[in-house]
Amino acid sequence: MKDDTIITHSGRHPERHFGVVNTPVFRASTILNPTVADLKAPKGLRDPRYGRRGTPTVFTLEDAVAELEGAHGTVVTPSGLAAVTTALLAFLQTGDHVLMVDCVYGPARRFANTFLKRMGIETTFFDPTIGAGVAELVRDNTKVLYLEAPGSQTFDMQDVPAMSAAVRPRGVKVLIDNTWATPLFFKPYEHGVDVSIHAGTKYIVGHSDAMIGVVTANEESFDAVRDSFDTLGACAGPDDVYLATRGLRTMAVRLRQHQATALKMAQWLQTRPEVSRVLYPALPEDPGHAIWKRDFLGASGLFGVVLKPVSDTAVAAMLDGLELYGMGASWGGYESLILPTDARPYRTATAWAPEGPTLRIHAGLEDVGDLIADLESGFGRLKQAT
Ligand SMILES: *Cc1c(COP(=O)(O)O)cnc(C)c1O
Repeated sequence: MKDDTIITHSGRHPERHFGVVNTPVFRASTILNPTVADLKAPKGLRDPRYGRRGTPTVFTLEDAVAELEGAHGTVVTPSGLAAVTTALLAFLQTGDHVLMVDCVYGPARRFANTFLKRMGIETTFFDPTIGAGVAELVRDNTKVLYLEAPGSQTFDMQDVPAMSAAVRPRGVKVLIDNTWATPLFFKPYEHGVDVSIHAGTKYIVGHSDAMIGVVTANEESFDAVRDSFDTLGACAGPDDVYLATRGLRTMAVRLRQHQATALKMAQWLQTRPEVSRVLYPALPEDPGHAIWKRDFLGASGLFGVVLKPVSDTAVAAMLDGLELYGMGASWGGYESLILPTDARPYRTATAWAPEGPTLRIHAGLEDVGDLIADLESGFGRLKQAT
């Protein structure tokens, strides 16, 4: 079945819940067993039953995301960052080594540099464009290759199949943060990935009103992920899980609109004299375009814009007066956002040298003409303040 059908039907069992279309919000700590025999007879992965280990509300989201992404199984965490840490801790112990892409989400880098370091786990950051050359960085104790494509803030693509083929024969697990593409626009298990991580907070929830994380895994890796999840004890609350599942049902139609709007905005921005370059792999001029076209099924609504050199005051004049763009952390909701970003302090393996200030834009579901007109007035203010 095609994704539009899977996203609508997977994980739902109305016949078990009074015919109600959506799996209700089950609130549970204790889950009762009718007899001693029932209590003593574990029936599989979801036993022994306990609120923290999931209820039908949670299993619906787990099953739907696993099916959509082509994974063996899923765990649901209370945030995207909890999904990152749960996934990493599933495969690491003292003395191990991690390879992490240099354009990784900031808090994942921080986890490696603080927590993992304290545990005696060393991390090497590497150039996102390294490709099969990553094999030269593999040591005897390397356990994880951690990717994020395209990367946070700078949108660098990575050759996932080439890197996977280079490291997996040496027993290295390939993890990817697949938040930007969602399970719809990148199918990690068709490109040699073992574990996929999502900040469900973004497009899965889709309405800026809940935090959720998801880790999916292939068959060989799922037991370790499930064990890490069970050991750490970070489970999501039932209302947030419900909102994530509700959001997921419309994600395919939302993403088509986010993609169309982002592409039009990105193309318009490319024509502007104030813009140096647009960071969006769906554009033919983007250095990651060929890989994106080969491996991805679409582009979501988040992209970057490098401006020509201009003062911070001028950028503030542009952004402060925008009417349709909110300024704040996160993205993936129905509404447009804009933020000044600066990836320069984060990079350690590669230099990031933008020509001028960088903006990150999330193209929401507003009318694209209105969104562009608002940016155009912003450029007017920028010019005036220069
Ligand atoms: C937002 C984000 C996260 C973290 O998600 P939270 O739900 O905010 O904890 C992880 N990875 C990427 C790429 C993100 O954009």
